[in-house]
Amino acid sequence: MFHLKNLIGGELTDPQGGGWIENIEPATGGVLGQIPRSQSADVEQAVQAASSAFPTWSQTSFEERSSCLRRWGALIAQHSEALVAAESMDNGKPVSLARTVDIPRAQKNLEFFAGAIEHFASESHIPADASYIHYTHRKPIGIVGCISPWNLPLYLFTWKIAPALAAGNCVIAKPSEITPVTAWMLSQWAAEAGFPKGVFNVLHGYGHEVGQAIVEHPRIKAISFTGGTQTGAHIARTTAGQFKKLSLELGGKNPALIFADCDFDAAVRTTVRSSFANQGQICLCSSRILIEESIYPAFRDALVAKAKRIVPGDPKDAATKMGAVVSASHRDKVLGYIQSAREQGATVLCGREVPPAPNERCANGFFIQPTILEGLDAECSINQEEIFGPVITLQSFRSETEAIDLANNSTYGLAATIWTQDVGRAHRVASQVESGIAWINCWLVRDLRTPFGGVKASGVGREGGFEALRFFTEPQNVSIPTGMGSH
Ligand code: NDP
Repeated sequence: MFHLKNLIGGELTDPQGGGWIENIEPATGGVLGQIPRSQSADVEQAVQAASSAFPTWSQTSFEERSSCLRRWGALIAQHSEALVAAESMDNGKPVSLARTVDIPRAQKNLEFFAGAIEHFASESHIPADASYIHYTHRKPIGIVGCISPWNLPLYLFTWKIAPALAAGNCVIAKPSEITPVTAWMLSQWAAEAGFPKGVFNVLHGYGHEVGQAIVEHPRIKAISFTGGTQTGAHIARTTAGQFKKLSLELGGKNPALIFADCDFDAAVRTTVRSSFANQGQICLCSSRILIEESIYPAFRDALVAKAKRIVPGDPKDAATKMGAVVSASHRDKVLGYIQSAREQGATVLCGREVPPAPNERCANGFFIQPTILEGLDAECSINQEEIFGPVITLQSFRSETEAIDLANNSTYGLAATIWTQDVGRAHRVASQVESGIAWINCWLVRDLRTPFGGVKASGVGREGGFEALRFFTEPQNVSIPTGMGSH
């Protein structure tokens, strides 16, 4: 049984109010441990600690901050198998996915921003007569809040805290209370990595309690949030009067556009992965599969045949490709969408039922079969609302224009996947699809230097590379005469 603690001012502490939340293992429905139910008093204590640490930390050299991040990354590598096991147990994802994606990418996030801060130079501008120098001083903001979701727990947690710390801020972070274990493990190694007390603080608990208190606190000057669109809208409303900097990475309803001239086998293979990886619980997962009419029957049949072969299994089993969804309430929400789809006239091509438990240990786990639906109107709730589970819909189109119209028929705009071998079409469609990310003939390809984020209801701002370092710094322009011209 885990008994998690907050990290405040370098100390692992219990919540001041004495409240605790049970942490449930998705694959079994059993209790994994207890986590602090932190409240605004804990936020206040963390703000005090961060305020004390900020003057010194903000003045440390980038080499020193970089070294702390590198040592932390090395500690992730050193403890990688323990982290893989914990992430899989806490989230329900297969160990194979945690081992190949979550944990190595978390380590990479720390290493990448350790390097990025070494190359993050300020801009300067000199007019033609060299009468002035204008230079931009990028200062750390102060205390920043980093709030992350449950689907890629350590991966998205480190994606925020690494640039925030590299830029010289003090951080108050809140992982999802549904999957807090790996953030807690990382918090235990912060001192060993070299972070002074109070620079990095972690508070566990409910979003509407401790998350809300972080968002509201007047001395927390920026919020980097990844989560649902409704929560993002609530945070934007809450902070509007305080003029905090906000980075919001929100939900998606991502289209995959499959043109008749695609590499058929590669498109089928990757679309199955882009639809069902992590049980469909990645904000970048494809959920609306748009297929050109001439190949619709063949593509649909190939997709369904492949999806039927995915059997949800015990996440601990090395051979498992699909694990459990994250919670009982999330399972019920996803199953509710499938039921609603049937009521709205969908044909369920595969899925529909809760599969038999993979073994005795998982008898009470939260498993859902990959589900493929067809015959639904583009405007219906199933094609408009984010389901965030292993459920996709199929629609057909006759022309490139119709494909783009269907893709853009959404309030969301996070990621689109385009499958065609016509390079002209690939670029044309990518430029017209309303999304922050477009993958052509691939999916989930990652280069940490590229801007990451969505348009429309999928978010505001971009993470990744220098975009993240710009977000976590406040630019001040300084102008000074050189004495070389008139002024
Ligand atoms: P939520 O919006 O429910 O929660 C995200 C985080 O915010 C959690 O830590 C949550 O705490 C916290 N939170 C909830 N309410 C508040 C509040 N009032 N003030 C401050 N913090 C709050 O999202 P989920 O955890 O359910 O994550 C799934 C969502 O995340 C999906 O919509 C998905 O698309 C999106 N997502 C977006 C990504 C992107 O990059 N665009 C990447 C990954 C996911 P608690 O857990 O206690 O509720």
